[in-house]
Amino acid sequence: MSELAPLDYELSLLSRLVEINTESVPKKGYSECASVIVEEAEKNSLTAEIVDGEKGANDGLSRPNVIVTLDSGSDTTVLLESHFDVVPPGTGWKYPPFKLTVEQGKAYGRGTADNKAGIVAVMGALRQLSNEKLDVNLKLVAGVDEEIGGRYGVDYVMSDWGLKGDAALIVDAGPESLFLGASGIIWGKVTVKGKQGHAGYPFKAKNAIEEAMKLIDCFEDYEKLVEKKESTLHAPVGSPRKFVWGRYSVTMIRAGEKENVIPGICEFRFDRRLLPEESLENAEGELMDFFKNALDETGCEAFLELVNKQNGYCTSSDLVFVQTVSETIQKTTGQRLPFAAELGGNDGSFFAKNGIPVVCYGPIRADTHYHGVDEFVYLQDIKNTRDSVVNLGKVSRDKIV
Ligand SMILES: [Zn+2]
Repeated sequence: MSELAPLDYELSLLSRLVEINTESVPKKGYSECASVIVEEAEKNSLTAEIVDGEKGANDGLSRPNVIVTLDSGSDTTVLLESHFDVVPPGTGWKYPPFKLTVEQGKAYGRGTADNKAGIVAVMGALRQLSNEKLDVNLKLVAGVDEEIGGRYGVDYVMSDWGLKGDAALIVDAGPESLFLGASGIIWGKVTVKGKQGHAGYPFKAKNAIEEAMKLIDCFEDYEKLVEKKESTLHAPVGSPRKFVWGRYSVTMIRAGEKENVIPGICEFRFDRRLLPEESLENAEGELMDFFKNALDETGCEAFLELVNKQNGYCTSSDLVFVQTVSETIQKTTGQRLPFAAELGGNDGSFFAKNGIPVVCYGPIRADTHYHGVDEFVYLQDIKNTRDSVVNLGKVSRDKIV
């Protein structure tokens, strides 16, 4: 057990956080979890405040984003972002999802990797640094609603409440690469019209499912078109391609109510992933042009609604902050990480949107079953994240901006 001893603080805090079910939809455990973080901050002479996204959402559901500050009186601030909401556990767990089980170098439980380990790693680092003379301020942002792309989590903290900072490290990430970007997202909903009728008399109706199939077929050309796009940033380890590429998938289809009724409406939805550096506006324009042509080509009657849009981002590897984080991780772990971009999105886009350089590194290793059954985090990755943050906190301010 001796090699675990240096993580005692982090594991006992992780255990407290994992025991609180903080699923994003019911939001029931949010306040309790936020209180634990605030209490821990105050115990370690850090200041903590809660920015409640409910003030923006106005629906009576508290969304306590927690900000913990180590104030060094500096004019330079590094933001450290994570989130404490989790996805539902699902069934089939060998370990209890809402109780921490530590076994053979791993800590099991829902939210361990994604992303409560990120919170405890940063809290452990701030605790170690709280008595040191530093040249930069450090701020942990422990957000909510991340798993549901929530507007009133970190986006609210950054864009509405106006949290300021000079650079951001997103610890809601894996340790295999230093991520300098994430993909943008467009979600589309296509409603295809037909004419409802009796299945015994199909010649009197127009089957909306058959119409939709024509369009879905046609969208295979769109998929080919976007797959040709290639980023300058590397794809994560284990990807089928070397560089991040454009992606399109049909993800939902809905039509029909009864076997003997020809449906008059069919709706399908899709997910399009942009390159980190791709402009959302251009991608939207391209999609709309494609859709218009597809209608002409198929003769379908349909309309397209974009139900969600999120910019990707791409941080330049020339920035001093990127070099500093890269060197700090190398100094801490002995590993020089390759630069890459995430295939998914992440909350880094809310920092990038506000002009703050963003890099991502954290404990969510690819094989940790995050969002899956028996999620775990490697203790070594908690330690590496914590120690990297400690070393980052000790750099001089000219290494940040
Ligand atoms: Zn996450």
